[in-house]
Amino acid sequence: MNADELFLGSDRSGARYREAMGCAVEAVLAAFDDGGDPYSGTPPDALAARFDDPVVPEDGQGLVQTVDEVTERVLEHSVHPSNPRCAAHLHCPPMIPGLVAETLLTAANQSLDSFDQAPAATVLEERVVDALCDLFGFPADADGVFTSGGTQSNFQALLLARDRYCDRHYGRNVRAAGLPSAADSLRILCSEQAHFTGKQSAHHLGLGDEAVVTVPTDDDRRMDPDALDATLAELETRDEEPFALIATAGTTDFGSIDPLAALADRGVKHDLWVHVDAAYGGALAVSDDYGHRLDGIERADSVAVDFHKLFYQPISCGAFLLRDGGDFERMARNAAYLNPEAHDDVGVPNLVAKSVQTTRRFDALKPYVAFRALGRRGLATLVDRTLELADEAASLLEAAEDFELLCDPTLNAVVFRYRPRNGMDDDAVSELNAAVRRELLRDGRAVVARTDVDGVTSLKFTLLNPTATCDDVARMLDAIRSCGSAVADDPGVAV
Ligand SMILES: *Cc1c(COP(=O)(O)O)cnc(C)c1O
Repeated sequence: MNADELFLGSDRSGARYREAMGCAVEAVLAAFDDGGDPYSGTPPDALAARFDDPVVPEDGQGLVQTVDEVTERVLEHSVHPSNPRCAAHLHCPPMIPGLVAETLLTAANQSLDSFDQAPAATVLEERVVDALCDLFGFPADADGVFTSGGTQSNFQALLLARDRYCDRHYGRNVRAAGLPSAADSLRILCSEQAHFTGKQSAHHLGLGDEAVVTVPTDDDRRMDPDALDATLAELETRDEEPFALIATAGTTDFGSIDPLAALADRGVKHDLWVHVDAAYGGALAVSDDYGHRLDGIERADSVAVDFHKLFYQPISCGAFLLRDGGDFERMARNAAYLNPEAHDDVGVPNLVAKSVQTTRRFDALKPYVAFRALGRRGLATLVDRTLELADEAASLLEAAEDFELLCDPTLNAVVFRYRPRNGMDDDAVSELNAAVRRELLRDGRAVVARTDVDGVTSLKFTLLNPTATCDDVARMLDAIRSCGSAVADDPGVAV
């Protein structure tokens, strides 16, 4: 291919682009046809065998053939997140407006690290951030930035929380001087159901996993405020210094939402930075029926929200919101080639100073297009539907004698165990559910997650697909039963 066919900007390349994009669309539609299974069931060694020719050949084979090859080798052996029986993780079916926005933003290739690489995109991101701050009830001087997702948003929250605490309590500028010698006693609180990225961030921030203290949860797997009080009292007797409290709005396994208002009270009383990890549950903010479950989020110091989960946008897309936008100053830096200080003085927007990334995608376009195209109500309908489906799935599990429902769903995650015989002990149930899950991956009729609940291997549906029905759930239960029989009949699998 000649250079003038490879890059946009000439007559020839325009025609090539149109043709190639058409080819890509056909490939997607062919690989993800309706009515098939969510996964081909191909095991890892068979997948590896499909890639036996050189990744970097001496001469290229052209685009059309390469797209065909990718369709056959990759797309046809990808899990199909839009299939209604793909229900394992917080892995959403991407909505068509999001796919369109993704095409536009990749073609425009704006980079949000400086205004001159992304003029309108910079302003649009700021507008979307303002709208999100409003959606969560933040005050006028709130601010935020788009991130790669919850991992990065949680990291950024704890970074700013740590630096604010060290500034206020030790007069220490961590950015310049590093951690104070008292850093050993710094603590982060979260529930025992909180996401692992709290610990991961503590590690990355030089505090270590052990700086994270987990607080017990109640029967609905929400942080118990009394247990939090007890934990805070205990830390005080040990002269340990909690500086941040992570409240989770939508835990990964059960979708439980910590009591946000009660935790905000503790935040005020104990001078804690309250960060709400709403990567999963943040989407409830658009819902008339369920939005109240986030009451208290408006009092947080910061919020993480993901758009590549319950907002149905293609990966990756998240936002970090900050109640007091001034706190971004704690991480700001100026680079002569991107955002010289002189620009700040004349009001040139400067997003690089708010991000842990430099070159950064224009992901804000995706929620913008979705919000504009569907409106809040349109999005709410999708979210509401999946919460209803989770209730229907829970009823189905409760009515089935060979399944055990572990918790009434709060969002759309449903955790359960396959227990075909009464009186099976927990060890046998663990082995059976783990074996069923392995067999399901080979089978491909349903993509279901496994998790551990109170030491017993369990199964999980995360019902993100608004087009899925109770029938689809019933078919997944049947697939589990049939894989259960297959593993019971296979002497190689200890059950
Ligand atoms: C998904 C998730 C994360 C991690 O976010 P990524 O977008 O995968 O980086 C963190 N916390 C919660 C509660 C999540 O659901």
